[in-house]
Amino acid sequence: MSVNDASDVGDRMQHWAMTVDRFLVHAARWHGGRELVTRGADGAISRMTWQDVERRARQLSAALLAGGVGQGTRVATLSMNVSRHVEAWFGIMGMGAVCHTLNPRLFEEQLVYIVNHAGDRWLFADLQFAPIVARLRAQCPTLEQVVYLCDEAQRPGGEGIAFETLIAGQRTDVRWGQFDEHTAAALCYTSGTTGNPKGVLYSHRSQVLHTLIVSQYEVFALSARDTVMMIVPMFHANAWGLPFAAAAAGAKLVLPGPKLDPASLYELLEQEQVTFSGGVPTVWQLLLAHLKAQRLRLSSLKRVLIGGSACPEAVARSFRDDHGVEVLHGWGMTELSPIGTVSGRPNAAVAALDAEAQLAYTLKQGRVPFGVDMKISGESGERLPHDGAQQGLLKVAGPAVVARYFGEDRDVLDAEGYFDTGDIGTIDAQGYLHITDRSKDVIKSGGEWISSVEIENIAASHPKALMAAVIAVPHPKWRERPLLVVKLKPGQDATGDEFLAFLDGKIAKWWMPEQVVFVAEMPLGATGKLDKKRLRTQFPALPAS
Ligand code: AMP
Repeated sequence: MSVNDASDVGDRMQHWAMTVDRFLVHAARWHGGRELVTRGADGAISRMTWQDVERRARQLSAALLAGGVGQGTRVATLSMNVSRHVEAWFGIMGMGAVCHTLNPRLFEEQLVYIVNHAGDRWLFADLQFAPIVARLRAQCPTLEQVVYLCDEAQRPGGEGIAFETLIAGQRTDVRWGQFDEHTAAALCYTSGTTGNPKGVLYSHRSQVLHTLIVSQYEVFALSARDTVMMIVPMFHANAWGLPFAAAAAGAKLVLPGPKLDPASLYELLEQEQVTFSGGVPTVWQLLLAHLKAQRLRLSSLKRVLIGGSACPEAVARSFRDDHGVEVLHGWGMTELSPIGTVSGRPNAAVAALDAEAQLAYTLKQGRVPFGVDMKISGESGERLPHDGAQQGLLKVAGPAVVARYFGEDRDVLDAEGYFDTGDIGTIDAQGYLHITDRSKDVIKSGGEWISSVEIENIAASHPKALMAAVIAVPHPKWRERPLLVVKLKPGQDATGDEFLAFLDGKIAKWWMPEQVVFVAEMPLGATGKLDKKRLRTQFPALPAS
């Protein structure tokens, strides 16, 4: 190539591989004194800085290299949000191994399946999970080494290695990221509500691009002044990308450990003057109920990211009206790294509407940021219009979206290169996605779709309701009809008719639930979402009233 040939840049721009270690190096170099605050299982608070994290993560990489871990080796973690887990992420990924986050709330058979399928060789675990670790060791032949995220004195008798012992005295000058940006960085399995869990293998490149995607103004927009409390667990879809995004921004990071009850979370939010936090709706519902009951105020929180399942109207209203907190409502999935769409920061047209109309948009799942594309399609694959009315299969494309599951030999993309999410929704003229159902949760009554999600959202905004779920039950004439299942707030009493009256006028007549049942407990899945599969087993038909 001649030096004047402009058809190819060649070496005229720097080759700067997009590897995730760069986030930590940036945070340590330019925001080195910003803290990571962890509350341990015993409630004690520990503090370190991004600089400490970099040093310790490099020591961990050195120890892993010495222990025979190499590029592509799968290293699993079974841990809550604590700073040693953050160090483990960077230490594992920085040297080219694959960090495989395991969800400790999964059933044992699923965990065994996942560890064996991934071929994990090392496992980093919180002490509290020692009983699970023992059972995994017995059933997972590839596991060679267990590291407990503790110091030597805390290590369970004779078991594994203590994290602090492993890194003590190790080199701090291990070189990171000396590999192609397409190298695998992390592995996460889907919740597996149908069939076996499937692994999504993220590359360094996809993780870096995802971080840039979520750093945009209309997504997380974290800044160096933010204090981020990461409630969403690091084993749930990369904690929505918050660890990388917080490091990239130079934010302070607050890690609540295993104590996720509302009183503990509130204490930490106030004590650390948190400005931004992210978690599933259940966490927020419980926190808001606690704030109301105890007449407490949030003095520093400015933005909450709510996702994983639809944000209930009551939650969005309470944050906005009672606490002056901006709600960001996100939709995503493990297969998307995971952020797909976000609402809350309106576009120009929506910003011109009144507050009530804007809230309606916040309750939708939102618009795609740059770096994600989406479409809704009909059953034969045709693109459906963005009229906010026609429901279709939601499909997405982007550099941080799965193309093929780990261990499989076929892509899961349609002819245009889009991934079918299994969600059903509409897209309106403003480009807002509204999820109306999961394709497997859909209620088809007399051949027409009923949106269980919409009924749930309205029912959950009833002042006496804590949670609401709608499932299909068989019906002789209509094939399926909706059943509304409600968990009331503590100390409340209600009748089914009260709920039906509340829904009346807010949904189409033929959407009205056949019946309302009250339950003491809602079955929750491993990521804290409502487990409709179990609810359907519990209510295979209309209960005798
Ligand atoms: P997971 O991969 O475990 O994060 O689950 C992804 C699924 O959660 C999506 O396909 C949706 O069905 C659901 N989900 C996530 N966020 C939302 C949201 N904001 N509203 C409705 N459903 C959601």
